[in-house]
Amino acid sequence: MAKKKQSISCSFCGRSEHSSGLLISGVSGHICLDCNQAAADIFNQSLTHEKSKENKVDTEDFIQKNKPSDIKQFLDAYVIGQLRAKKILSTAVYNHYKRLGQFSQAEKDQEVEIEKSNILLVGDTGTGKTLLAKTIAKKLNVPFCIADATVFTESGYVGEDVESVLTRLLQAANYDVQAAERGIVFIDEIDKVARKSDNPSITRDVSGEGVQQGLLKLIEGAVVSVPPQGGRKHPDQKMIQVNTQHILFICGGAFVGINKIISRRIRAGSLGFSSLNEEEKAESNPLEFLTAQDLKSFGLIPELIGRVPIHTFLDTLDEKALQRILVEPKNALIKQYTKLFDMDGIALNFEKKALDLIVQKAIQTKLGARGLRSICEMVLSDLMFELPSDKKTKKYTVTEAYVKQRLF
Ligand code: ADP
Repeated sequence: MAKKKQSISCSFCGRSEHSSGLLISGVSGHICLDCNQAAADIFNQSLTHEKSKENKVDTEDFIQKNKPSDIKQFLDAYVIGQLRAKKILSTAVYNHYKRLGQFSQAEKDQEVEIEKSNILLVGDTGTGKTLLAKTIAKKLNVPFCIADATVFTESGYVGEDVESVLTRLLQAANYDVQAAERGIVFIDEIDKVARKSDNPSITRDVSGEGVQQGLLKLIEGAVVSVPPQGGRKHPDQKMIQVNTQHILFICGGAFVGINKIISRRIRAGSLGFSSLNEEEKAESNPLEFLTAQDLKSFGLIPELIGRVPIHTFLDTLDEKALQRILVEPKNALIKQYTKLFDMDGIALNFEKKALDLIVQKAIQTKLGARGLRSICEMVLSDLMFELPSDKKTKKYTVTEAYVKQRLF
């Protein structure tokens, strides 16, 4: 006679297999899918709680161990020059951590609330704006992403919604929402979404003012629905809620032409510049006198300027700075090429004058330090192809004559 099948039930809620559907069996019990889900939720909650405790400790620990001058020292190892920008960035980040500490304490007895200090970096292309933002994120060990403001358009138009910035940040954080909510977003080319004139437009400015309005919401701090895979939002998509309150936004742009706006204002009699003597005027960078008013004249909306209150500028890189960039930073280009050749057992050297020529070429291209890499590639491409199979060469010096022949 066939044995009657014994009915089993969930060891947690007691429901039978019949009413609960699938049961998963363990060594001495069973669990239904609902209880399994509930257990996973409890587990995640406790993990989140542990993480937020860790974050709190992190914040306090960071402030103790990383004073602004320590942060600047870290930046010095990667970024050449740009003293003022480094100081301002280090201080802003330090204060940002204090602010995070204030919120993670959640003891909301704050009579004085420290506001978020988003940062605007103004400087020519290739002067190190992105590098500064990247390096600071490395120091803080938080998720970091770069977005280009020019790809955004106002919601409803062809292009990306501004929220897609947060998709990138989530991806950088491996979809850990809590980590992303403490991350850093670098928005490059913010100057390209300036509105075309100082006066608010009557017609719609799809790629300019509309985008600034969209960014404003993210930057000032809001809970935003983010499409996990990016692209345009559509109604059936499952969204992830991200609170941007603690995300640090660093905006960068070349703001070509803003010098003229500053000079015009100064000539009209503003304080500061006019108190300098002629020699000081000739040596000073007009960007030193950048004000919110100039940014407004350039075409940023006042609300956005107000939400990015810390402004600093990067110096244009001169020959001396470019020479240092080639050899000094931790990840300097020449160090990288030397390592590549070293892997083939070849000791690579450069004559000082060879490096000078590379720098001269970079100055001609007007791309700042950005041009150095492709110039080095032009110089070294044949050597990188030929030398690895040349068994006899154990040492190679790149001479001035060789660089001249490759570049000029
Ligand atoms: P941008 O100001 O246009 O954002 P980047 O930061 O992207 O410029 O710089 C481009 C490249 O040039 C960087 O990857 C870096 O190698 C180099 N670079 C630019 N400025 C500096 C600098 N001040 N110190 C060291 N390297 C720099």
